[in-house]
Parts: sequence; structure tokens; C-alpha cells
Amino acid sequence: MSGVGAEKAAEIAAKVEAFVREVVIPYEKDPRRDHHNAPTDEMVFEMREKARAAGVLTPHILPDGRHLSQRETATVLKKSGLSPLGPLAVNTNAPDEGNMFLLGKVGSPEIKERFLKPMVEGRARSAFFMTEPAAENGAGSDPSMMKTTCVKDGNHWVINGRKAFITGAQGAKVGIVMAKSEDGACMFVVDLPNPAIRIERVPNTIDNSMPGGHAVVAIENLRVPADQMLGNSGEGFKYAQVRLSPARLSHCMRWHGVATRAHEIASEYACKRMAFGKLLVDHEGVGFQLADNLIDLKQAELMIDWCADVLDTGSLGTAESSMAKVAVSEALFRVADRCIQVMGGSGVTEDTIVEQAFREIRAFRIYDGPTEVHKWSLAKKIKRDTLGSHK
Ligand SMILES: Cc1cc2nc3c(=O)[nH]c(=O)nc-3n(C[C@H](O)[C@H](O)[C@H](O)COP(=O)(O)OP(=O)(O)OC[C@H]3O[C@@H](n4cnc5c(N)ncnc54)[C@H](O)[C@@H]3O)c2cc1C
Repeated sequence: MSGVGAEKAAEIAAKVEAFVREVVIPYEKDPRRDHHNAPTDEMVFEMREKARAAGVLTPHILPDGRHLSQRETATVLKKSGLSPLGPLAVNTNAPDEGNMFLLGKVGSPEIKERFLKPMVEGRARSAFFMTEPAAENGAGSDPSMMKTTCVKDGNHWVINGRKAFITGAQGAKVGIVMAKSEDGACMFVVDLPNPAIRIERVPNTIDNSMPGGHAVVAIENLRVPADQMLGNSGEGFKYAQVRLSPARLSHCMRWHGVATRAHEIASEYACKRMAFGKLLVDHEGVGFQLADNLIDLKQAELMIDWCADVLDTGSLGTAESSMAKVAVSEALFRVADRCIQVMGGSGVTEDTIVEQAFREIRAFRIYDGPTEVHKWSLAKKIKRDTLGSHK
């Protein structure tokens, strides 16, 4: 990916950081939350208007449609993550960022105009429908277990099934739906809301940064025009691969920003709060925890940059993004946990975003591939490589 150059990316990142610190962070105390405690769309779109005015809306895609390289995207998205609300405000949030990337790569000109444009303009949210209810043994860690079907009917496809954990489905305008035909997995882009896509419930979850929560959805006789299939019948997983590694990595970027901010807050606390006659930071047990945070944050940053460079060569980066996702999500979780510990009781209150960082990053260790699934797929690669090299 060619990108805009490191200097320009640093300039964009600096503008995003200033916007998040000056304009977005005060919104953290704004009470506008839905019944799942996620930010309301009213608040999100209000912040986006301010981002538009400040010239930082959708900062990773330039007005001429060019996308920043993955390495440049990392520079910008880490800054957007300095508040849990930052990605929503500047339109770098999940799942929209990954969905925009996918549609930008594989969408026809008509699909880009109709579905991608309103997303890039920050006017429409989107959802990605892959996972299915565990109780029905549908797709989860293993996407090949997909039960949702699509059947050709004239110039349309008819989709039936149930999905679970669909982030942002409630309130989204664009949906990317995965289903199985007799040829294999298929991917469709659809308008939302749609009466054939019914939200059954939105469970309360440990995290609450994503508007609309994570819905359980019934898809009943959804008719989709054939030209809204992305690629050909049976190519769904190939197209999912296009989204997979960059989307996974962009989660690492945003949560790196949140963990960095949590560390700033904990450091501030430890450098002001006294116990046993001295500042907390001067107690070795506390100072070492903050030092370990710095080390984990730097290692996570280096893993993100390394994986971004691999993706920028045009590689799918499947193994590299698995390694990065495991290393970064686990490291950032340790950082968030230490920040809480350093802050004592204050760390578990809602007075700062530290407790939210902990909850959000806990969930991140599961979505976009749980840690164990990535390690398992890396172990399979090790076996392939080892047995292959011994032949
Ligand atoms: C907050 C959140 C948001 C999400 N958003 C979306 C979304 O927008 N769209 C969407 O389609 N999905 C979404 N998901 C779903 C997510 O991708 C799945 O939860 C994930 O793929 C795991 O599937 P599962 O929950 O069915 O767990 P299961 O498949 O039941 O796995 C449970 C556990 O088993 C272990 N395990 C599984 N396989 C292996 C293996 N091979 N080796 C070792 N251990 C293994 C892992 O520890 C895993 O955590 C979201 C999930 C969460 C938590």
C-alpha cells in the first residue's frame, strides 16, 4: 500500500491527538448512553460534526479516496484511541473501519457509491454479520460451522439464519452478511434496517464502547439482489480474509491508544498520591508496575508496526496478524490491570476511563479470534513448516 508518507501521517496523527484530547475527552462525562451504557448515536454524530469541522473525520482515508498505508494508519489510529470515544468521534471505530476497508478493496463502483460513501462521510454506521449462536452450534471460533444459508432465487439471493454478537447492528445503516450457498461461504452487502433482519435481543456485555451493543439477530427470508454479493458464490471466506488481518490490527492500534491513556492516568495518580511517607511511584512495587507498563506498551507498538509493514507488502499477513493480535491484546490487558492496581480503589470507579480500558480490552482478547485460536493456528503452521522442512 503506497500511503501518504510518514511526515503527512504524523501531521494527521497530531491533529487527531489534539482533537481527541481537547474535544473528545470532555465527552467522557457526557451522560448520553443507551440502556446498554453505550454512547448514543445522538452523541456520536454530534462529536462527528465537530470532527468534520476540525478536519479530522475519517482521517485514515483522504478526500481523494486514497487509504493510508497500514503503518501510517497505526500512527493515526493509536491517537484516535486516546479516549474510548475517540474512534467513534473521528470515524475510525470498529466495525466500521474494517467494513470501509473491505468495501474500498472489493466493492464495485455502484456499491462504493451507495454503501461506502455514507460511511466514509461519517453519516452511516455498519455491522458485520458472521458469528452465530453457540447454543445452535453455529459459526464462532470456527467460521466453517456457519449455518446461515443463502439460496439463489432468480436475480436475488434469499438468506435465512441467526447471528450473534453483531456489533452495532442496532442503529446501523449498512450490513455485511455472511451465509453459505452450495458453493461455500458468500458475502453480501445490505441496507439496514431491514424488516427481514430482526434484532431479537442485545445482551449486556462487559464492554460498552460500541453503539448498538452486540445483538442477537434473526434473518428471515432476506432477499438480496444478486449484484449485492461481494465477489462470487463460494468466495466469502476469501473476501473475509481481505478484511481479517487489517481489522484485527486496527483493534490493536485503537486499544493501544486507550491503554496508553490509562497508563498516563495511573502515572499521574502514582506521582501525586502519598502512602507511608512517600509518593506511590517511589515505592518499588508501584514504580515497577508502571515500568512494566512502559515495556508492554513499547513491545505492543513494535508488534503493531512490524505487522503493519508486512501487510503493506501486500501479504495477507495471516500468521503475523495472529502473533500481533495475541501479543498486543495480552500486553494491553496487563497494562490496564496494572493501572487499576496502582490506583487502588479509584482504579475501579467510573471516575476515570481506567476501569473501562480493563473491561474493553478483556473483551478484545476474545473477538477477532480468541488468543487460543490464534496460538492453535500458529501451532498448525509450525507443524506444517517443521514436517515440510524434514522431508
Ligand atoms: C464484544 C464482542 C464483539 C463481537 N462482535 C462481532 C461482530 O460484530 N460480528 C461477528 O460476526 N462476531 C462478533 N463477535 C464474535 C466473536 O468473533 C466470537 O465471540 C469469537 O469468534 C469466538 O467465538 P465464540 O464466542 O462462539 O466462542 P467459541 O467458538 O465457543 O470458543 C470459546 C473458547 O474456546 C476456545 N477455543 C476455540 N477454538 C479453539 C482452538 N482451536 N484451540 C484452543 N482453544 C479454542 C477459546 O478459548 C475460545 O474463547 C464479537 C464478540 C465479542 C465478545
